[in-house]
Amino acid sequence: MSAPFNFSAGPAMLPAEVMQQARDEFLNWNDLGISVMEISHRDPAFIRLAEQAEQDLRDLMAIPDHYKVLFMHGGGRGQFSAVPQNIAATDATADYLNCGIWSDFAIREAQKYVRHVNVVGAAVQTDQGKAISHPDSWQLSEHAAYFHYCPNETVDGIAVHEIPQVNAPIVADMSSNILSEPLDVSKFGVIYAGAQKNIGPSGFAISIVREDLLGHAQTNTSTIMDYTVQAKEGSMYNTPNTFAWYLSALVFQWLKRQGGVAAIGELNRAKAAKLYHYIDQSDFYSNPVHPDYRSRMNIPFLLADSSLDNAFLEQAAAAGLVGLKGHRFVGGMRASIYNAMPMAGVDALVEFMAEFERKV
Ligand code: PMP
Repeated sequence: MSAPFNFSAGPAMLPAEVMQQARDEFLNWNDLGISVMEISHRDPAFIRLAEQAEQDLRDLMAIPDHYKVLFMHGGGRGQFSAVPQNIAATDATADYLNCGIWSDFAIREAQKYVRHVNVVGAAVQTDQGKAISHPDSWQLSEHAAYFHYCPNETVDGIAVHEIPQVNAPIVADMSSNILSEPLDVSKFGVIYAGAQKNIGPSGFAISIVREDLLGHAQTNTSTIMDYTVQAKEGSMYNTPNTFAWYLSALVFQWLKRQGGVAAIGELNRAKAAKLYHYIDQSDFYSNPVHPDYRSRMNIPFLLADSSLDNAFLEQAAAAGLVGLKGHRFVGGMRASIYNAMPMAGVDALVEFMAEFERKV
């Protein structure tokens, strides 16, 4: 049986080439006769891997020299608390744009560490679908320690495609859209991402931190989450997740072979356009998001008759299309089409959707 197309939102599919390489060298990495999981993170061979991974990420994202790249623990949510603890004083104000479910979790976590969490704007319903309140209406604070937003809300399928223009350092949760298209890193104070979508295994995270934001951690910040300590220690203050780091390194190399983020960004646009086009021309399927705010990574869709949801999912799985169930908070369907999803997967999904619509 050929491998299914996996539309899971995360942990998500990884490039087949990467998985095959990891399998081939699992027991004997770098001709050492042992696995990459079994060597010290201080071994020169591992240090070379770690440094190369950072360099590849820097090349891919054109990260300026005055940013540190940190390989962190605790996935995306770990960063929800790391951000306020590292770059805001306990009595500071932090501005948050509430774009959806993950923004909301980030807001609630920040409230534990910063006295004033100011929600500047939120998702709104318009006659063309869900959108984000217009920047002109945002209630920005005068002296915010930072402005946080999630440019790609994984559950809601809402994206903010324009980088906000605000005075405070911008912090972006890019867990589900990092590396998916070219980005001007210099516009940000901190970019962070849980790894399990466009990078590698879950529980791992990457934080890209502008150097002038270091050195201000709250006194009670746990040391493994302290950006300044991790920057000084090369992200090896404690034992890093070496296997996740290794797999991420393979993904970065794969992405370079695809032509980098410019090339993958073109492909991502084409994949999303094809799926939205199909959904929009059909009366049977619908997407709840305003066209200007649609995610290119996570595409939720509803069936006109939700009593057919289970039949849709069962028949899709039988046709080799898995991971399409919408998030438990919102129901319906969701196709996550991260970097590793080939156009062939989107073609197969559209074909199946058309066939399902015809049959019922
Ligand atoms: N932020 C976003 C945008 C996410 O999609 C997720 C997970 N899906 C998280 C944060 C939380 O990540 P984790 O489960 O790694 O803590």
